Amino acid sequence: MSSAVAAIAPAPAGDNSRAAAVAAARACFPILGRSVHDRPGRPGPSLVYLDSAASAQKPQAVIDAMVGAMSGYYANVHRGIHTLSQQSTDAYEGARARIATFLNAPSPAEIVITRSATEAINLVAATFGRTFLSAGDEIVVSVMEHHANIVPWQLIADAEGARLKVVPCDDRGVLDLDVYERLLGDRTRIVAITHCSNVTGTVIPAAEITRLAHARGIPVLFDGSQAAVHMPVDVQAIDADFYALTGHKLYGPTAIGVLYGKAEWLKRLPPYQGGGDMIASVSFEGTEFKGPPERFEAGTPPILEAIGLHAAIDFVDTLGLAAIAAHEHRLLARATAALQEIEGVSVIGTAPDKAAIISFTIDGIHPHDLGMLLDRAGVAVRVGQHCAEPLLDRFGVGATVRASFALYNNDDDVGRLIEAVRAAKEFFS
Ligand SMILES: *Cc1c(COP(=O)(O)O)cnc(C)c1O
Repeated sequence: MSSAVAAIAPAPAGDNSRAAAVAAARACFPILGRSVHDRPGRPGPSLVYLDSAASAQKPQAVIDAMVGAMSGYYANVHRGIHTLSQQSTDAYEGARARIATFLNAPSPAEIVITRSATEAINLVAATFGRTFLSAGDEIVVSVMEHHANIVPWQLIADAEGARLKVVPCDDRGVLDLDVYERLLGDRTRIVAITHCSNVTGTVIPAAEITRLAHARGIPVLFDGSQAAVHMPVDVQAIDADFYALTGHKLYGPTAIGVLYGKAEWLKRLPPYQGGGDMIASVSFEGTEFKGPPERFEAGTPPILEAIGLHAAIDFVDTLGLAAIAAHEHRLLARATAALQEIEGVSVIGTAPDKAAIISFTIDGIHPHDLGMLLDRAGVAVRVGQHCAEPLLDRFGVGATVRASFALYNNDDDVGRLIEAVRAAKEFFS
């Protein structure tokens, strides 16, 4: 564990000291000290970063871990007998083991390291699809999916003659469980569903989703890209067959993702990409593949990124995802209430169980104009479709403004957001 994490490590103490540790953790993110729109001799407003659902900022511990690897022991993994290669391999495999404990996976062999959540989902869609889908089969998804959990399924459905069935949500953004259950039929081969919407923040009842699918022998893949950041995830408790997540939203580096897959499923899937590291032996007569997880990790893996993700997971776990969630929920409640007090604001997504993500629109102001004015005030938010066009269509909007909260945000950030939204409304009136 790096000293940056140790410095904020809370004692096994009560809620108050855990909350204090989360609040203090903001200081571990060097970028949050900067300002934006500086002019010579005149610094601009200090940064309020509310775009963590697109990508989170990195704590010093992650930066140090990656720099430490590059300056201390970096080499390629799995094929060298020299010292550095062995140290790198230990670090890479150590990251895999750490990811397994983070998700409470039974074994590190059930953790496939990918380049992104997108790649993790494509891997399952392509290999599962090739093996288990045929003409007339059905894939159940929800209207709340990120494009990363729609398009890979459309591609394989087109190739195999299968089709997608879409579970709707209500006006609050709550998934319709009755329709979900009715959509599970004889032709359903897999359910692929987000654990938490990146637009509305809706958290879906994951254990109930798997219970209903498993009763019919159908496996479930969860897109956990947002959920894994905002709440403790236990793949055994929710009985996930596949669980995808991404490093860069979990305070880790870009270009690393994770696919958890139950051993019984992974061993039934063929290779995804071919290349080095995933083979047992190669000849022109025929090539033998390794078993999972190596079978799915062709080529030089994201070694430094895995080391960075390991540090990110240590950082998050030291604070505790439950404590982080409590901190974020307090900010979510304050920001939602304050936004709803502003005339003309509509919050899209008011599910009772939601993570700290607020999408909203304001009558008469285009989200892009609002986003630009907020940026002038130092407040970074996302505007647009958030890679979830079907969900925006469902709510009848072309774009929203999205403010997403992370462990490092505080009351001051909420205040700056509200102040900037009010000022923008004034500007356009
Ligand atoms: C960001 C995101 C993805 C894509 O993850 P990448 O690793 O950036 O490809 C998929 N699903 C959801 C819900 C996301 O928020």
